[in-house]
Amino acid sequence: MIDLKHLWEIQLLDQQRKSLESSFKGDDMASELRALKNDIEESRAAFKTLKEEYGSLKKELRKREMDTDELKERVGAMSKRLYDGSITSAKEVQSSNQKLLFLQDEIKRTEDLTLATMESLEAVRQKLEKLSAELNEKALHYRRLHGTYLGHQQKMRKMLAQIPQLRQKLLEKVDSNIWKKYVEMKKKIADPLARVEKGACTGCRVGLSFNDLRALKQGGTLVYCQNCGRMLFWER
Ligand SMILES: [Zn+2]
Repeated sequence: MIDLKHLWEIQLLDQQRKSLESSFKGDDMASELRALKNDIEESRAAFKTLKEEYGSLKKELRKREMDTDELKERVGAMSKRLYDGSITSAKEVQSSNQKLLFLQDEIKRTEDLTLATMESLEAVRQKLEKLSAELNEKALHYRRLHGTYLGHQQKMRKMLAQIPQLRQKLLEKVDSNIWKKYVEMKKKIADPLARVEKGACTGCRVGLSFNDLRALKQGGTLVYCQNCGRMLFWER
């Protein structure tokens, strides 16, 4: 009685190995990881630039505040001199009043500038906050994906590593003449063994003749598909 079950299992195992190996090569997850990493690096660079901008705006704000304080001090000193009676000449009073007006204008101007700088600073701060949240999100996503990827890789390696031993055990159960024929056929057809389902060869989908089906079920001889030439396997 010819039973091709073990040979069939070997063929399945070889197909499995092939698909495992090709999934190692065309690694979609690895390319997604690479893209994500590049994205994170770009975001980090943008964050750094923005942070520098924030730093220089802060410096600018401090300078404006100091300028305003200094102007206020000068106004204070001048007002004091005007009203404590230390200036007596009318001409000097007039020029001091003019200077005072000028200084007050200057104060108004620096205060406006200070406000504008504060607004810019706030806008940059908000942008930084948003960018930082985005970066954290991306980094988390990367770590998760990387973890999954490593786990997946490990699982595939383990499966691949088990295949040769399984295959060897199966091979020991296959008749050597049948194996020789199979190996010979494999030079021309990638999957020389085809299972018969619903009276048809699953290799080419063409139905078997009554005689071939009967011979297959009797199991006394090897039966080949008359259409595609594959060796036929009938699962008992
Ligand atoms: Zn066929």
